[in-house]
Amino acid sequence: MDLHQVVKSKLCLGCGICTASGEGIEMGFSKKHGMNIPQLDSHKTYPLGDNLCPAIGYDIVHEGIELYGSEGSYSMELGNILSSYAAYAINSDVIKGASSGGVMSQLLLFVLEKGIADKVACTKFIYTENGPRTNTILTSKLSDILDCQGSKYCPVDISSFLVDLREFNGKVAFIGTPCQVAGLRKLQKVVPELKEKVVLTIANFCGGFKSYKSIQKLSKRHGVRFDQIEYLRFRGGGQPGSLLVYDSFGKRYEAPYPNYTGYTGYSKILRCHLCVDATGELADIACGDAWIDRYIEHKKQWSIVVGRSKFAREVIEQMCKERVIYCEALDQSEIIKSQWTNIKSKKIRQAARFALYEKLGYEIPKFDGGYSKYVTSMLFELRVFCSHKFKELLEELGLYKTLRIILKKRY
Ligand SMILES: Cc1cc2nc3c(=O)[nH]c(=O)nc-3n(C[C@H](O)[C@H](O)[C@H](O)COP(=O)(O)OP(=O)(O)OC[C@H]3O[C@@H](n4cnc5c(N)ncnc54)[C@H](O)[C@@H]3O)c2cc1C
Repeated sequence: MDLHQVVKSKLCLGCGICTASGEGIEMGFSKKHGMNIPQLDSHKTYPLGDNLCPAIGYDIVHEGIELYGSEGSYSMELGNILSSYAAYAINSDVIKGASSGGVMSQLLLFVLEKGIADKVACTKFIYTENGPRTNTILTSKLSDILDCQGSKYCPVDISSFLVDLREFNGKVAFIGTPCQVAGLRKLQKVVPELKEKVVLTIANFCGGFKSYKSIQKLSKRHGVRFDQIEYLRFRGGGQPGSLLVYDSFGKRYEAPYPNYTGYTGYSKILRCHLCVDATGELADIACGDAWIDRYIEHKKQWSIVVGRSKFAREVIEQMCKERVIYCEALDQSEIIKSQWTNIKSKKIRQAARFALYEKLGYEIPKFDGGYSKYVTSMLFELRVFCSHKFKELLEELGLYKTLRIILKKRY
């Protein structure tokens, strides 16, 4: 598969890694895709861009072993792990804007303070006349790191960050989705000095994201002018928190997470349905929500944190020792249980989904494993597929809201 096929078959993640190929690729917003995609010349080929693209797939097992295999233990569900914890940041300013325990942001602050990294990469919303978009910045400022907090359940184009990274002469810590980290790993293979430069990678656990069409639809439906949005968050305001969006006219919409994910007929983007990376297997550290009763019921907001290398373990343990985060050891079996819906979808049901989608004529990303090869029920996957397509069709026809009204459900 090449970049042309990735875009044509709607497998593009919109991450912008391909722009680092030096082949003149630029990203541009596509209304059809509802996100930034590479603007390709149909007469040209992009062999280096093809090589960098994580949407095409990656050697999740082999690369994981190469990076961390000698240090931790491997499981299909979680990848290579050396240490695992439930944790939260002690600093109340960090907790205020966090999606869960604020550990991801606290990690950035810690590596800056200790001189482990000179700058860190994180992602914030910017508000344009075309609606909210993301911007991944290279910074060493506390205010930027706090400004970037919160999960962005939407496509994130990191192409401008990749330019900053190339031009910056110093050590960098990077936060991103599992696929962004996988793309960065591909880039490190092509540009070996990036191995030294990017000293720490941190990924979120990932159940996927939707295109901008979903947030645009929700805004419109609730009278919030998309082109006048002044503030958007997908998570925040406690745990599990809420979506909050408002425009410059004072129109405001708030809905609880994760319920609002069903309030439009739009599903996750195609490539997220065809992903086998639930926990950022190629990142040194990965963080997720602690969907475990004793942490959900606790008065603090907790995260799950896994360290895949000795260095990652040292960083996390030092943070605990210095009381910037509070940590408890967490067994891998509990992590798997807490992430089971996502793990089941990406690791257990994926072979059946791949087989079905292939039969339906879809391009399939290539992984060297990392999911069970046992084909569960293709009929079940077909039912799920039809349900997604039906909801999407209703949404496109403007009938999804009506259906939910009839069913007495929120929209
Ligand atoms: C698309 C997506 C899907 C997720 N799916 C799951 C899931 O299935 N299960 C689960 O347990 N957890 C999932 N998470 C992780 C969860 O939402 C929290 O990010 C995690 O619990 C860590 O929260 P925190 O309070 O430590 O981070 P915060 O202090 O809120 O910091 C989050 C950091 O991540 C960066 N960031 C957020 N979104 C993106 C993005 N899309 N691309 C690049 N950087 C980003 C922010 O800029 C910030 O630096 C997902 C996150 C995302 C972005």
